[in-house]
This record gives sequence, structure tokens and C-alpha cells, in this order.
Amino acid sequence: MATLIDGKGLANRLQEELAEKVAQMKEEHAIVPGLVVILVGDDPASQVYVGNKERSALAAGFKSEVVRVPDTISQEELLALISKYNVDASYHGILVQLPLPKHIDEEAVLLAISPEKDVDGFHPMNMGRLWSGHPVMVPCTPAGIMAMVEAYGVELAGKRAVVIGRSNIVGKPMAQLLMDKNATVTIAHSRTQNLPELARSADILVVAIGQAKFVTKEFVKEGAVVIDVGMNRDDNGKLCGDVDFDEVEPLASLITPVPGGVGPMTITMLLEQTYQAAMRTVNI
Ligand code: NDP
Repeated sequence: MATLIDGKGLANRLQEELAEKVAQMKEEHAIVPGLVVILVGDDPASQVYVGNKERSALAAGFKSEVVRVPDTISQEELLALISKYNVDASYHGILVQLPLPKHIDEEAVLLAISPEKDVDGFHPMNMGRLWSGHPVMVPCTPAGIMAMVEAYGVELAGKRAVVIGRSNIVGKPMAQLLMDKNATVTIAHSRTQNLPELARSADILVVAIGQAKFVTKEFVKEGAVVIDVGMNRDDNGKLCGDVDFDEVEPLASLITPVPGGVGPMTITMLLEQTYQAAMRTVNI
């Protein structure tokens, strides 16, 4: 039987510690970390994510603003809005909630955010820093997974890691972070052959594909650490991961639940990176 990785509990603890660091920063440097989230349109899932981010930011003592703009906003107007926050020194982090409406070029938007304020770590400058072994701002979901793995004392050096999924926001940065800790990493995707066999070679298996309960016991070696990034709805509309938890849990040594695993850590890393960005402005 696996030990559950309590992402929610860890996130709460880290956010409480962060609130103390924020109070200290305020006292010692008269700086309050500021996070602005720009939400385009009224996608219900995005509304929920943004609401959670704002609540957590305020609870940790941040200055927090959510700018809601209609999905009819032009690309030019959106870029102008980003420019305004790029030069506003009271904000240290800028996040544009994805996905964006089709008429807006996502890459142009990500490029417009100052790399120093790119707390999502999606700007090519920050991606490049990560891949060259000098990470500054790292995509929050893989950063949160690394924090969880560390908190649970998982040894990565020399271990075999398989990451299923190769998106820019999860799979690729995840692989790089695991490699930085000296794991031997394979990235799998929809064209990978013999996926169950490959996954069974993993000491650490990270799944980020967006397919409900796709990873069954055939994919998992006994004693593996299983990290489930997926957020899907099952046939009954219940939130579930990419891993078939009931099948895999008896085999794994450690496993993240959905919900309550990776998700809460993502927001925690967003706040932590905003705090770090604010800290970098001290004494400049
Ligand atoms: P993307 O859709 O951007 O990428 C999915 C990846 O999975 C692609 O690389 C795709 O391969 C691969 N894939 C899809 N189906 C299969 C398959 N059958 N076998 C092998 N590989 C497959 O998704 P994201 O990375 O953005 O998100 C993945 C999941 O994680 C989603 O459920 C999302 O909701 C969740 N998520 C959760 C977060 C959290 O905080 N908990 C944060 C971010 C995401 P290919 O490249 O070949 O198409």
C-alpha cells in the first residue's frame, strides 16, 4: 500500500511559512510582493483557478489584483495592458491565464511579459535559463512536484524517471528539473511505442496527459513513486487524475491523489516565485 503524498497539507504549510516571510519582507524592506492575474473572457474553469490564486495570494499577505477583460479585447489592447504592469514597480509577478481566445497570439502575449515578472516561467528567456541549467522562474506545476518529492525524501540521483506528456508547461520542464537532480529521464508522448513497458521501467513516474485514469497497473513497477498531474472528469463528473488510482495505489510506494496532490502545490509555487521576484528587487 502506498503512502499518500499530501499536496494540500504541504501547500498549506508552505503558504503559512510564506506569509511569515512576506510579513518580514514588509517590515525589513517595506516591500509587499504584488501579483496581477489577467483573465481574458469568462471561461468557468479559468474563473475558478484565478479565484483560488487570488484567495491564496491575499491570505499570504500579497498585493493581489485580478484584471478581468472581455474576450473581445484586441491583441494590441492586451499587450498594452501587459506593458502597463511591466513598468508598475508594485507588481513583481504577472500572469496571463491561459487559454486565450483564438484571435490572440499566445506566444506574442507570453513574449510581452517581462522575464523578470514572468512568474509562470513560460517566457522563452526563462525556458532557456531552465534548459541551460540556470533556472530562475520555473513553470509552477513541475516546480511544485519537485518541492513535494523533496519534502517526501524521494532520492532522485541515479534513478530512472519517466515523464508521460511533453507540453511546455508540464512535461518538458518536469523532465529538465528531474535531470537537474541527476535522474535518468525519458519523456513519452502520444507516439511513444510500448508505453506500458517503458513506464514500468520508472522508479519515478510522472503523468501529465489529460486522459482520465489512463495509467493502469500495467504501467507501474512495484515500489514506484507515482505523480499524477491530470485533472479530468470521470464518467460521473467526478474530478480524477490521469492515473487509475485504485489500481495503481497498491503497487506504488508513494502516490499523489487527485484532488489534493499536485494542484495545490502549483499555486504555492506561483506565490513563492512572486515572493522571490520581489526579493530580487530589494536593494536594486
Ligand atoms: P497538453 O494537452 O498540453 O499535453 C498533453 C501531453 O500528453 C502531450 O504531450 C501529448 O502527446 C501527451 N499525450 C496525450 N495523450 C497521450 C497518450 N494516450 N499517451 C501518451 N501521451 C499522451 O496537456 P498539459 O500538459 O497542459 O496538461 C496535462 C494534464 O495535466 C491535464 O489533465 C491538465 O488539466 C493537467 N494539469 C494540471 C495542473 C495542476 O496544477 N494540477 C497544471 C497543468 C496541467 P503529444 O505531444 O504527442 O500530443
